[in-house]
Amino acid sequence: MGPFGATDGSLRATDGSFLGQMWPSTRVEDLRKFVLRLTNVEVRYDRVILVLKGLSLEVPEGQIVALLGANGAGKSTTLKAISGLLKSEDGEVSEGTIELDGQSLADLDPADIVRRGIFQVIEGRRIFQHLNVEENLLAGAHTRARKTLKDDLQVVYSYFAPLKTRRLSTAGYLSGGEQQMLAIGRALMARPRLIMLDEPSLGLAPLIVQEILEIIQRINRESGTTILLVEQNAHLALSLASYAYLMENGRIVLEGPPSRLRENQDVQEFYLGLTELGEHRSYRDIKHYKRRKRWLS
Ligand code: ATP
Repeated sequence: MGPFGATDGSLRATDGSFLGQMWPSTRVEDLRKFVLRLTNVEVRYDRVILVLKGLSLEVPEGQIVALLGANGAGKSTTLKAISGLLKSEDGEVSEGTIELDGQSLADLDPADIVRRGIFQVIEGRRIFQHLNVEENLLAGAHTRARKTLKDDLQVVYSYFAPLKTRRLSTAGYLSGGEQQMLAIGRALMARPRLIMLDEPSLGLAPLIVQEILEIIQRINRESGTTILLVEQNAHLALSLASYAYLMENGRIVLEGPPSRLRENQDVQEFYLGLTELGEHRSYRDIKHYKRRKRWLS
């Protein structure tokens, strides 16, 4: 008897030994190496306001994973818990564990977490407005030795051509799209293993968003950088990610490959704006749609 194909796309001999992969596996549990793992994480602000209520998620190496959810679901709080930025907002991880490559990040300050390889691109493109483009990029590399900085700048400019053209311009005068490119370029300068992007599409024109997302995909493909993408725009996130989590009220309510989320009727109605007949619903209709979501019932 010859080898057989398992449901996860692996080709196995009759004794079960692994011979090869016929197609890429997209189930998170099949991808062996996780860069990041959150287990039953609770986060409180001001010691009392419970915002994350036992959140668990995993990000496999080299993948783009999306974290979706409406306003106030707790997406930014999740990223801040990982990057150590919670402390500056009187927030704390009160339960659970956050691990990078199996090592706990508890009690590390944000600079240590950057040194370990996690870089968060904060919502709203926070850049140093009064510095020029290149100075901003160099600031992203402050945790690293100076030897390879020139090469790293060239890598960033090869992804983001407008930044090269405007390398000596004051960052505050860049367009919104260029500022988002700068914020991501600054993350690349730290040579992170994991970049966390908080709403990169926020406030940008659709064409610019498309351009930036294509670059994010290229960075992931060419440099193998793992990406955790937080987005309210489910269409965008699901077109980019190989696995997605949906958050509501501080918990994960649904997860799976994009196809699984797209098939879910609640995702279609509340996040993709489609009716049961496949028509697009206006935001106003969705807002006033009172039926309780199926995953909560
Ligand atoms: P958005 O897309 O609007 O940023 P989000 O999913 O990222 O939403 P968070 O910003 O994480 O959500 O907020 C989750 C909840 O935590 C909200 O109810 C918010 O009011 C609360 N929250 C956020 N930051 C603080 C803070 N510093 N102190 C107290 N409560 C906070």
